[in-house]
Amino acid sequence: MPASSHIPLIVQPFVSDRAKHTLDLVEQFVDNDCIPAEPLFQAQLGQGERRWTTNPVIMDSLKAKARSLGLWNMFLPKNRFSEGAGFTNLEYGLMAEYLGKSKLASEATNNAAPDTGNMEVLAKYGNEAQKREWLVPLLEGKIRSAFLMTEPEVASSDATNIQLSIRREGNEYVLNGSKWWSSGAGDPRCQIYLVMGRSDPSQQDPYRQQSVILVPANTAGITVHRMLSVYGYEDAPHGHGQITFENVRVPVSAMVLGEGRGFEIIQGRLGPGRIHIAMRTIGASERALEWLIARINDDRRKTFGQNLSAHGVILEWVARSRIEIDAARLIVLNAAIKIDQGDAKSALKEIAQAKVLVPQTALAVIDRAIQAYGAAGVCQDTPLAHMWAMSRALRIADGPDEVHLLQLGRRENRARKDAIIAKMDWQRTEAQRLLVVAGFSPTKSHL
Ligand SMILES: Cc1cc2nc3c(=O)[nH]c(=O)nc-3n(C[C@H](O)[C@H](O)[C@H](O)COP(=O)(O)OP(=O)(O)OC[C@H]3O[C@@H](n4cnc5c(N)ncnc54)[C@H](O)[C@@H]3O)c2cc1C
Repeated sequence: MPASSHIPLIVQPFVSDRAKHTLDLVEQFVDNDCIPAEPLFQAQLGQGERRWTTNPVIMDSLKAKARSLGLWNMFLPKNRFSEGAGFTNLEYGLMAEYLGKSKLASEATNNAAPDTGNMEVLAKYGNEAQKREWLVPLLEGKIRSAFLMTEPEVASSDATNIQLSIRREGNEYVLNGSKWWSSGAGDPRCQIYLVMGRSDPSQQDPYRQQSVILVPANTAGITVHRMLSVYGYEDAPHGHGQITFENVRVPVSAMVLGEGRGFEIIQGRLGPGRIHIAMRTIGASERALEWLIARINDDRRKTFGQNLSAHGVILEWVARSRIEIDAARLIVLNAAIKIDQGDAKSALKEIAQAKVLVPQTALAVIDRAIQAYGAAGVCQDTPLAHMWAMSRALRIADGPDEVHLLQLGRRENRARKDAIIAKMDWQRTEAQRLLVVAGFSPTKSHL
């Protein structure tokens, strides 16, 4: 059964025939080309320091094949950008699920983070010269990029804390400060950093102090100190860098949108990106469920004379995983439709729901699959341990759960409290009235 026949009923009216056809191509490309190429990618990457200087050639072959199939830049939504493949957020969301099944598929189709978010920034806020210099090669998949916001010295989930200084001197800006968790900075093809820093500490409004500026990765004064690991995984050649800026000079033309517009840019950048990550994570969960089903039906590995699938508790894991993935998918697709019908700002609630729910769902599903494999599940012989580490990091990356929950809770509370209290007051009064009219005594309650 092709992927297009699994599109949830509720979203089918929003999906074009062209998107359905492309979705089937994505599924075939991921299943037949990307997943089988994963061990070769690892082998070509090699060991030790050369992992940070090598581009496995299999990636170039995959990119060529993806382009020949028309599977390129599907992430740029058609209602806002002319540069993409012409799909909606919902349609791309369905495709992103399949891309999320293989760690190679997003890059092979030029839909990989952080380039996707950075391309959206450049397409949306960049001027013509910035687009020519950086957006064009990114859209072509010729270079890669990183987004540098988080800093080691401050609690960066509150972006008003960001310290890196951006000071104007004549026709240049001078940058001083440090960053870490700069994803993608390890890749030898990473040529451009989008750096968030403080350009006007004296500005009264804390949301107007920050700016985003374009800094070529080879600018003098930049030092990449090390790559950070995620539960021991370094994600080479991509990597998560720790970087310092010491009197780094860029021309004033490198400023994106204008001084003090940094918050506007990061908010615009993160909405659709969160949906893409969530859908890729749904795909990873589906792959974990496939591994779970394969293990519990493996006739070579019986326990107490039976396949694992004969044990009720294990079938319950399958059932729970099915329910949880299907429910989480609907939350994400609903957010995608909401963005398509308005914009990311009008879908803040739905995006936050998906951002919080999906990694937790994935962790539960992947954990069951790991358990079913016994010790094999925690080692490198299955993709499960790596998938678990990546999903766990998503509860922190791009804003920790608590921050999204706080904002979601605040919004829900503010929007509903008055109407709920008024309705319940009225219902209580009406209940008393009905009792009295029917000849009963009114009830006494403190509520
Ligand atoms: C794999 C990975 C990739 C990443 N990639 C990038 C990248 O490319 N670019 C980039 O700039 N950054 C990146 N990050 C960094 C990430 O966005 C930050 O780690 C995240 O925003 C949290 O900031 P922090 O680490 O400074 O934690 P802090 O801000 O110090 O927060 C620590 C903890 O405090 C708690 N907390 C915070 N606020 C509240 C609150 N309001 N209520 C209750 N509890 C709260 C949360 O539990 C939180 O985890 C990445 C991180 C990871 C793990």
